[in-house]
Amino acid sequence: MKLLHTYQNIFGVVLIVAVVVGIITAAYFRGRPSPEFVEYAVFIEAVDAGQVESVVLSSGAEISFTLENDDATFVTNNPRREDLKEFLLLSGVSVTERAPAGDGFIQLGFMLVVLAVVVFVLHRRSGGVRAKSGFNAEAVNIENSSKLCGFDDIAGNVEAKESVRDIVDYLREPSKYARYGARMPKGILLHGKPGTGKTLMARAMAGEAGVPFYAVSGSDFVQMYVGVGAARVRELFKKAREAGRGVIFIDEIDALGKKRSDGLNGNDEREQTLNALLTEMQGFCDKAGIIVIAATNRPDTLDEALLRPGRFDRRVEIGLPDLAARKQIIALHAANKPIAPETDMEKLAVDTVFFSGAMLEGLLNDAAINAAKRGVEAIEPTDIATAYYTALAGSEKKDRSGIREQERAVTAWHESGHALAATLLNPENRVTKVTIIPTTSGAGGFCVNIPPERMYWTKKDLEEQIMVNLAGRCAEELHFGVEGVTTGASNDIEKATQTAMQYVAKFGMGEGIVDRIALKDDHGVNKEVAQLTARLYKETKNLLKQNYSKLEALANMLLEKETLDGEDILSIAA
Ligand code: ADP
Ligand code: ZN
Repeated sequence: MKLLHTYQNIFGVVLIVAVVVGIITAAYFRGRPSPEFVEYAVFIEAVDAGQVESVVLSSGAEISFTLENDDATFVTNNPRREDLKEFLLLSGVSVTERAPAGDGFIQLGFMLVVLAVVVFVLHRRSGGVRAKSGFNAEAVNIENSSKLCGFDDIAGNVEAKESVRDIVDYLREPSKYARYGARMPKGILLHGKPGTGKTLMARAMAGEAGVPFYAVSGSDFVQMYVGVGAARVRELFKKAREAGRGVIFIDEIDALGKKRSDGLNGNDEREQTLNALLTEMQGFCDKAGIIVIAATNRPDTLDEALLRPGRFDRRVEIGLPDLAARKQIIALHAANKPIAPETDMEKLAVDTVFFSGAMLEGLLNDAAINAAKRGVEAIEPTDIATAYYTALAGSEKKDRSGIREQERAVTAWHESGHALAATLLNPENRVTKVTIIPTTSGAGGFCVNIPPERMYWTKKDLEEQIMVNLAGRCAEELHFGVEGVTTGASNDIEKATQTAMQYVAKFGMGEGIVDRIALKDDHGVNKEVAQLTARLYKETKNLLKQNYSKLEALANMLLEKETLDGEDILSIAA
């Protein structure tokens, strides 16, 4: 018994217990009486006949269901059809989603075994109870400044570059600033949408200054064991200090720097890691020449502690590229690719409003892949067009056999409604594509309307925006009748409501010029939003009614060609 007192043996016991529990759990759940199996075709028949009451979807090999007026549970093959849920919902079946129970428990048992083995091995390797917090060198990306890029590799973002120029200068020559007693920021927070080039900016700063670049991600620090993240932070800073000057880049800082106010008393591990980071930053002396750059796309979720003076007290926004910047980014990423002369890159820049730098890069890369697949000389307009619409809407579904004629018609009228309303309401809107080809992201079809680039939106702009959103449903109603409208408009209605809500409660365009969100006053807002959308719905319906022949022509052309471009639409709608 004496041996049991050593840690080695405690781990042995843990291992054995886990293995036994694992095996028992797996055996128990395997041994449960299994529900009756029904052929998938029979199941679909039952759905069509309205006999199925509820279905539990899972990612496993089987899905289970119950029948009306019957307590028994049945199972059938899981077809893993993407649109099964929608189909069931439309057939009036109640649907829940769940991880497969039996499999899940078997997996749990299996995981316990694996966990025990991992703990055991870790323990053996470190020769103690506490897994040694050895910093995994592979988690940090250290880049030599010679490989790094500079500001010339960043298109646009002129203000952002300007606002970090002094930091670059400081990194080059820390003593210059120390001599004047200047206190430089220790941390910079880059915030902006994903793919806008925050990482690029941090790398370029290191590159411009000629210092090493240490890149980690906030999520790397959030580990299973308390204390490991904090130790990692300390080691990272130690490494940087030993090397002298440098840029430490922490991507996704929100993973460890989230506000602590979320009710739960926080996550010990995250808090320790965060505190370690703040302590290390505090510990730098001003002439160290090390700067920490953190990136996030959710600055509003960050813990206040991170933003105090002496921490990440300089905030730099990295914005989406404007037209000129998009042109530059496209030129930058097209430079190493063969582009056919008839390809219009100017137009691509114009059409990619709201695209991030990363999306533009991805688009050009996809276009190159398309051209390579077709084996043509150079990237042609069609390769770019395909990549463009894929980026907008997810790839076109290859298998269209499951779509019923009736559904195609609904989609055609619905999308024609959007396209026609957008074109008629404002000649500045450019409807560049309408299609009834479904996307993998779940839409039956879509309509691309590029609104003009604006700094401010007028009341009229917002009303038109709501009308364009509602126009899909209006067209359905006009053609199929009040009873014939479908669930396909849910997303449009959500958007219209959001805009109407802001119109009334935030922009003071309804009754009363106050920010009623700030006042936390729900009084009458909901009613006003409902009245506004009802009025605009009526106006949209009138507009489409007056132009019914155009609407019909568009829908028919869509049914025939599946996809219409800007010229097709103008030829009918204008
Ligand atoms: P973030 O860190 O903001 O998510 P990244 O810096 O990882 O974005 O950007 C991903 C890629 O997108 C970059 O490597 C670059 O190729 C491209 N990119 C993004 N913004 C720009 C830009 N302003 N100029 C040039 N390329 C850009
Ligand atoms: Zn729609």
